[in-house]
Amino acid sequence: MNEEHSHLDGERGAWLRCYRCWSQRLEAQVHYDAILRVDPETGEAAERVEEVQEAVVQCLDCMHDQPHLTVEEGRVVAIGDRWERMVAGKPFVASCTVTVDQDMVESCSGPEAADSLTYASFGDAGTREFFTHVRFHKHDDEEIVVHFLVELYARSSQEASEVLEGSARGPLEITSLAEESRPPAHASDEAH
Ligand SMILES: [Zn+2]
Repeated sequence: MNEEHSHLDGERGAWLRCYRCWSQRLEAQVHYDAILRVDPETGEAAERVEEVQEAVVQCLDCMHDQPHLTVEEGRVVAIGDRWERMVAGKPFVASCTVTVDQDMVESCSGPEAADSLTYASFGDAGTREFFTHVRFHKHDDEEIVVHFLVELYARSSQEASEVLEGSARGPLEITSLAEESRPPAHASDEAH
């Protein structure tokens, strides 16, 4: 093929891989939600009024979701500059608290509690990108202080704290932040 084509392929190789084990064996789970207009004569439901697509790319080797990738028009594409941080980055583990308004937490007890507290504290990043462990939470008047262990990928500790800061939906306090070694390539990891 021509030079431009091979150049693009080279670039794609940089991000079209698992951010944890760098495997290129990926699978996309795509869910379509479509509204189709019904033809009154034939009953045929073919005319597309609206279509919503949701895609999750997963690694076949370590089974982790790939929040730096999505599917657009039948092709996997990288999301903004998130892929650079995640693919070139290392795991960091932060011990931190986020203080949120209690109205932001749907439920703070029962099986949904961890997800609710995580979403209230870190939004989509908390449920899709970070590996979070809620250690405990405390009610303080109208507010809830959530104590977390968070694992996230970044190229430096400064970038890790910026990402946490940028995702936190309330005042964030980081008590410790340490770099972990990258999980071994192609190791089957325990599910988070
Ligand atoms: Zn993987």
